[in-house]
Amino acid sequence: MAESPRPDLLSLTPEALRRVLADHFQVRGQPAYRAGQVEKWIFERLAPSISAMTDLPRAEREALAASFDLAEPQPATVATSVDGTVKHVWRLADGELVESVLIPTQERLTLCISSQAGCAMGCTFCATGWGGFRRQLTAGEIVAQYRASRRWAEANGLGPVTNIVYMGMGEPLANRAAVHDSLTLLNRGYGVGARRITVSTVGHVPGILELADRHEQFRLALSLHAPTSALRQQLIPLEKRYSLDEVMQALERFDEAGGKRITFEYTMIAGVNDALELVEPLAELARRVGAWVNLIPFNPIPYKDWRASPPARIKAFAAGLARRGVTAAIRASRGRDIDAACGQLRAHTLAEAGAKGS
Ligand code: SAH
Ligand code: SF4
Repeated sequence: MAESPRPDLLSLTPEALRRVLADHFQVRGQPAYRAGQVEKWIFERLAPSISAMTDLPRAEREALAASFDLAEPQPATVATSVDGTVKHVWRLADGELVESVLIPTQERLTLCISSQAGCAMGCTFCATGWGGFRRQLTAGEIVAQYRASRRWAEANGLGPVTNIVYMGMGEPLANRAAVHDSLTLLNRGYGVGARRITVSTVGHVPGILELADRHEQFRLALSLHAPTSALRQQLIPLEKRYSLDEVMQALERFDEAGGKRITFEYTMIAGVNDALELVEPLAELARRVGAWVNLIPFNPIPYKDWRASPPARIKAFAAGLARRGVTAAIRASRGRDIDAACGQLRAHTLAEAGAKGS
């Protein structure tokens, strides 16, 4: 993508934003409080554009727009599931598509956001993986999903977004600069508590170590999916670069950094990773770092004829973990009718485009 010549106001961390706005208004001979007005429009009032900042004089809005962008994605589609899950597909400035999902439950409203357009990791069970990598998202494009989803949720009676998970498209720790800035922005700019933000990774060791070094208590989810390195390699190509041993050592560092909850995600695929003898090694890994385990029925994808494990098997896994002192939850697959699992709607859009093209 050609770099925009104007900095995107949504990509600047709160400190950087304050600096550039102070400079901008000083050069223009404007009072210092103008910077605060713009910050408020961005972080509190969620202005969708510079022209919406109506308490700035028109000339100042024009001057700001001449120097800066405020790059909001456009909704390409929005789909609501019978279970209340809402999926947005956003069209970015260069036409790339990314998705975010709002997941309401009794006590929270969780937003699942994307960190990359596509993903280079190629996990065999994941539709995004099959679609390949398109490009990195900027910090602004990551937080823009939150801003636009929050506006949509408030306008449609879903209330405030309470939790954010980086579980949409992409591997967040393979886009670290932008993801770190987006974490800072969501936490210090938009006021989302660090413990309400979860970064999900397939096991990117340097990224886990960097996250461990942050002083905020962002949560970490490891997409484990298999408790042995040999089996994991069949599902996750990155296992060949960062082995389960190294990943576990990095998680121990994260755990020792204190107060930060780790979750294991375990997608259950019939006959692939659901043998009952895997419960014991899985429990051992979880106990090592005090992790909770989320068991997720595999969501079928167009590229593989795999099926989800039967409910009885998933329950047996959960019970086996509980017996071994590990907290396990079975995560209902939400939004299946609108393809709200990782990368699915975009995969279908691509598959349709491919079918038409051939
Ligand atoms: N790249 C990161 C975050 C995005 S994937 C990661 O892999 O953790 C978000 C979650 O969706 C991961 O736990 C991933 O394993 C899961 N997932 C991907 N494809 C799935 C499928 N077909 N069925 C169920 N879960 C899936
Ligand atoms: Fe990428 Fe995560 Fe999908 Fe693997 S599971 S291909 S890391 S998005």
